Amino acid sequence: MDEIINDFHDLDQIPVFQTQIDPEMMNTADRLDVLQMNIGRVCNLACKHCHVCAGPNRTEVMSREVMADCIQFAREQQVQTIDITGGAPEMNPDFEWLVTEACKVCSHVIVRTNLTVLLNPEYEHLIEFYARQKVEIVCSLPYYRADQMDRVRGTGTFDGAIQVLQKLNTLGYGKNPELVLNMVYNPAGAFFPPDQTAMELEYKEHLEADFGIVFNALYTLYNNPMGRFGAFLRRSGNLSGYMKKLYDAFNPATVEALMCRFQISVDYDGKLYDCDFNLAAGLPIFSKETIADWIGKPYTARKIRMDKHCYACTAGAGSS
Ligand code: SF4
Ligand code: SF4
Repeated sequence: MDEIINDFHDLDQIPVFQTQIDPEMMNTADRLDVLQMNIGRVCNLACKHCHVCAGPNRTEVMSREVMADCIQFAREQQVQTIDITGGAPEMNPDFEWLVTEACKVCSHVIVRTNLTVLLNPEYEHLIEFYARQKVEIVCSLPYYRADQMDRVRGTGTFDGAIQVLQKLNTLGYGKNPELVLNMVYNPAGAFFPPDQTAMELEYKEHLEADFGIVFNALYTLYNNPMGRFGAFLRRSGNLSGYMKKLYDAFNPATVEALMCRFQISVDYDGKLYDCDFNLAAGLPIFSKETIADWIGKPYTARKIRMDKHCYACTAGAGSS
């Protein structure tokens, strides 16, 4: 298994994150908007910078029992959004059951896909399933040109992703307001993403001109120094330099909207985390409860488990 990086205590030159923010912002809001579910580490790809270290050799998948707990919790709390991720969430054997049940209790269901998994004959029917269920698709497309993307994700991944995007467009994704298709861009190394608006324009122009592809929005994210990316930074001697850059780019205006203030992230085994990055780092919520512990109880605000990796969420325009 890949090395997990969650120890920043040797980075003494970087101030403790909590000293930079209003103490009130170290707590969640009183309301919960998003239930994020990480339904497994299995993935058809093994990308260089995967923060959850997913891949074809991983075996962890969320059981239907844990999924049912999540659905019951979402119903009780009337969460606005259920956000399903992985690994490649499509590779969980109960994935279709989960999406169907999630759409019954929640009007906004997001599935995060790497696109290429949908070329596999075992999963290609899910493209139409997504359109029928009207789920929002958030896909990762590391770049709009093949060579850059194939370097990060593997040979042929770009062409595969383009085929799937064209099928999604044919079904109305990116065109019909009920079929939202968003993309995510992460830098392929220890550097920062370009301006989001400019990058979205660049993606839209190139993908439409070269492949006739349209989509709704592009989100540019700062890489969080976790998982394989964190291991790469440490191995290459870039961790302290990268953390210093994140700290120097700290923007206090991003703190109020940090995603951890309005969401909970459930791992495949039901354990709860303040966000996907803490999940990747193995840092559960302070109370160490599971989703089953939260059923039938009122939702209450809690203290968020923050550390120096949180600077990745507050750099520049924010990455939450
Ligand atoms: S980054 Fe996404 S597509 Fe790549 S290995 Fe991780 S989960 Fe799979
Ligand atoms: S890494 Fe997680 S806990 Fe830290 S600021 Fe970002 S979302 Fe919040």
